[in-house]
Amino acid sequence: MICTLCPRRCGVDRSQQTGFCGLGEQMLIARIAPHLWEEPPISGQRGTGAVFFSGCTLRCAYCQNGDISHRNQGQPFTPRQLADSLRRLEEMGMQSISFITATPFLPQILEALALYRPALPLVWNSSGYERAETLRHLEGVIDVYLPDLKHYSSRMGALCAKAPDYFEVASATLQEMCRQTGDPIYNEEGIMTRGTLIRHLILPSLTGESLKLLTWVKDTLPPGTPVSLMRQYIPYNGVSIPGLDRRVTEKEYRRVRDHMLALDLPGFLQEPEAADPNFVPVFNQPESFV
Ligand code: SF4
Repeated sequence: MICTLCPRRCGVDRSQQTGFCGLGEQMLIARIAPHLWEEPPISGQRGTGAVFFSGCTLRCAYCQNGDISHRNQGQPFTPRQLADSLRRLEEMGMQSISFITATPFLPQILEALALYRPALPLVWNSSGYERAETLRHLEGVIDVYLPDLKHYSSRMGALCAKAPDYFEVASATLQEMCRQTGDPIYNEEGIMTRGTLIRHLILPSLTGESLKLLTWVKDTLPPGTPVSLMRQYIPYNGVSIPGLDRRVTEKEYRRVRDHMLALDLPGFLQEPEAADPNFVPVFNQPESFV
C-alpha cells in the first residue's frame, strides 16, 4: 500500500518501509476497553467501547499518550480480530464505539466493519489533522466525528507537531466532518447518534490561540456545533517547548471559558479534577483488551 492517507502524504509502501507515523501495514492496537471519561454524549452512563490504535499522524510534543502515539506500542490485530472485539464491546452494553487516532489503519477498519458492524453510534476520534479526501471513505460509515482543534498559528503547529499547516488542514477537515454528519442528533439517553463535537485543549501561555480558534468555530461552522473545552493539560512526554512546561492556570482557563460563553457556543466545560495522570488509561497490557 502506497500510503497517502494523512496530510503527511509520505508516499511510502508500508509493506516495505515506514513514513512519518512509523507504522507498517499490520494493524496495531494498544487498548480495547470500556471508557467512561469522554464527554457525556459519547460515554453516556455505561461507557464508550474505546479502541486506541497505535501510532499517530500528528505526534504532538506534549502528548499524554506518548507510549502509543510516539513509540507505537501495541498488539497486532487482524480485521477479523477487531470485528470480534467490536462485537464483545457491544455485548458488554457500551453506548458507542470510539476509534481513536485510527487514520493509518482506515482500510483495515473498513474491512473489520464489513465483517461486523455494531448497532451503535460509531465515533471517529481524531487529531483534526486529516485529509478530506480520506475522510470521504468514512461517509455513511462513521456517525459521529470527535476532532481536536489544536493550533491556530503555523508557528505553534510547527513547534508542537511539525505541522505548520495544522490549522489550514484542520479547518478544512472540520468543515468536511460537519458536512458529512449534519447537525447533532441525540437519542433518548443523550448519546450523540450523529454529529460533530469539537475538542479544544487549552495550552499554557497560549490562550490567545484558543480565543482565535473558538471565534473561527463560531464564524465558520454550523450553529449548534458543540465544543468541548478541555483544561486537562499536563506537561507529559518530556515536552521542552518554552511555556508548555506547566499546567494551565485558573486565570488562563477563565479567559478562554469566558470567551466561549460570550460567543454562546454550545458544549462542555471540563472539571478541574480532569487534570490528573490517573485518567491516562493503561495501554498494551493484558488487562487493556476485552
Ligand atoms: S498514515 Fe503514516 S505513512 Fe501514511 S501518509 Fe500518514 S504519516 Fe505517512
